[in-house]
Amino acid sequence: MINSLKYISTRGSAPELSFKDVIFEGLASDGGLYVPKHWPCLSNELIDSFSSMTYQEIAYEVISPYIDSTLSDEDLKAIIKKSYSCFDNTEITPLTKLDNKNYLLELYHGPTYAFKDVAMQFISQLMNFYLNENKQSINILGATSGDTGAAAIEGFKNVKSAKIFILHPYNKISEVQRKFMTTIKSENVFNIAIKGSFDDCQNIIKKIFSDNDYKKEKSLTAINSINWSRIMCQMVYYFYTLSRIKSKDKKVLFSVPTGNFGDILAGYISKKMGLKIDMLNIATNDNDILTRTLMTGRHQLQGVIETTSPSIDIQISSNFERLLYDITQDSNYVSNLMNELKRTGKYTLKENDLITMRKSFCSYSVSEEESANIIKNTFEKYKVIIDPHTAVGLSSAQKCDKEYDIMITLSTAHPAKFKDTVSNLLHNEEFITKKVSNILKLDENMTILDNDIDVVRNFITGNI
Ligand SMILES: *Cc1c(COP(=O)(O)O)cnc(C)c1O
Repeated sequence: MINSLKYISTRGSAPELSFKDVIFEGLASDGGLYVPKHWPCLSNELIDSFSSMTYQEIAYEVISPYIDSTLSDEDLKAIIKKSYSCFDNTEITPLTKLDNKNYLLELYHGPTYAFKDVAMQFISQLMNFYLNENKQSINILGATSGDTGAAAIEGFKNVKSAKIFILHPYNKISEVQRKFMTTIKSENVFNIAIKGSFDDCQNIIKKIFSDNDYKKEKSLTAINSINWSRIMCQMVYYFYTLSRIKSKDKKVLFSVPTGNFGDILAGYISKKMGLKIDMLNIATNDNDILTRTLMTGRHQLQGVIETTSPSIDIQISSNFERLLYDITQDSNYVSNLMNELKRTGKYTLKENDLITMRKSFCSYSVSEEESANIIKNTFEKYKVIIDPHTAVGLSSAQKCDKEYDIMITLSTAHPAKFKDTVSNLLHNEEFITKKVSNILKLDENMTILDNDIDVVRNFITGNI
């Protein structure tokens, strides 16, 4: 590949990096997020040809423009092949047609039953490749609202040259989510339960990473949704979806249950790369900060509300910064907004930027009651069992005030991962797979720590 797409920080004062460095760097040294200098475009002919390609072949075409000569075509293909060999469906992300208009994109066929596997399997293979090549080792640090952690631990459990530390909010994720992480027995895996919220976990990680000396000294790498390669892998299934549905001349909406804004951002970038998407719906639960932002232009933090869709119980939506940068192309402005958010807990978008945003995004929030109702209705009407996050996506899509011919809801988790919520509503337990019942019986490994950066840092230092 003679590609040399470079990456820059959304805040403008971190060094320009190559693909490989971006993957290991995680958060930029100026506190910003890395984005490619420009979006590669795929031709219509190429996108049309995806209809006869496998998921893995499409992945190669979508991902390769972002990669440079540090990875040969053969190596990239081998990494893609390995990454998706552990999925339990040959389509990788199969589509379920509910009716002539509504589809579910099932993103939960990976080893930990949530869409995070799609990216995390790839990243662990990719990092393993680079580490082996350079005989290096790293320490991975991440915060999880429930699903990222499991996917990361599953991906890295056999990577000898990496240790992995995952923070999750103590008692605030489902039992199945927790056990997917804490029952993996591997010497390089450290589960840390923080007495606080997901945002607290994320703040601790951000603070640890903001100490550049510590980060260098300990070879720290972030794998949460700020890592560029996660967004990159998630674009693939938007292309895959429209290669499997006849959507020419049709108006297409994707509805995405949204927390950290990574999954939906991947849809936005797919659109920038040439995929014909008319609208992206930011589906939120009671934690509706992005819905309010789209409606009023005011981005204002409130407390985190606990819901039955915990993976999107988030106030600080990190990847939204990448969208702000893309729309404004002004790193000074983005820096100022982010500083203001940190200082005052809010910022207001310029009218023009809001108008631009609304051309690609709409947003509707879903109450707990609406979420419960749609889980019941979807089962009664279609005999399809959905998890509470998918329910938020589907219910939110139905609130859209414009007409779309095709509405695809991203089904981000397997219902068994939230079995209590779902079985209480449906009085049915058939969807609880053997894998989940088995995991529930296994012993757990985790350390409970205070919501205090020094305590966490000491723990990490002591275990590296
Ligand atoms: C992580 C997650 C989301 C939110 O994705 P973001 O990229 O953070 O917006 C939605 N649903 C489930 C089940 C998740 O695990």
